[in-house]
Amino acid sequence: MSFDPNVGGAELLRGARAEHRIVLTRDKRLRTAPDVVYLGSERVRDQLREVLRRFAIDPHRAALTRCSRCNAPLREISRETAANRVPSFVYSSQTRFSRCDSCGRIYWRATHPERIMAELARIET
Ligand SMILES: [Zn+2]
Repeated sequence: MSFDPNVGGAELLRGARAEHRIVLTRDKRLRTAPDVVYLGSERVRDQLREVLRRFAIDPHRAALTRCSRCNAPLREISRETAANRVPSFVYSSQTRFSRCDSCGRIYWRATHPERIMAELARIET
C-alpha cells in the first residue's frame, strides 16, 4: 500500500491494519487511532528523528534493505543476472546489485545511497 491523497482516513487505517503497517501522519484527526504515529514536527529531518526515537530501528542496518517503490525486502543478485536489466554504463561501473522480488526493480550503489547515509548522519547529530 502506498500513499494515495484520495484515500480517506478510515480507509487508510483499514488498509494499514490489513497489511500490519503503521501510519505516520501529520493529520491530527488520526492521532488517537491505534497503529498511528502522529508526527509533531513539520520538518522532514525532525520527523525522521521522531520515527527513530519511537521505534527500535538501527538506521545504518535498515537503510537500503527495502524497495523504495513497494517496501518489499531487497535480495542481492549476481552481476550477470543484472546484466541486461540495467544501463550499460551502470553495469560496467558497478559490482553489486539487488532486486526487489515484488516489483522487479533493480538497485545498485551509486550516489543516491551515499546521500541517504549522509542524511542519516545529519539526523543523528
Ligand atoms: Zn519493489
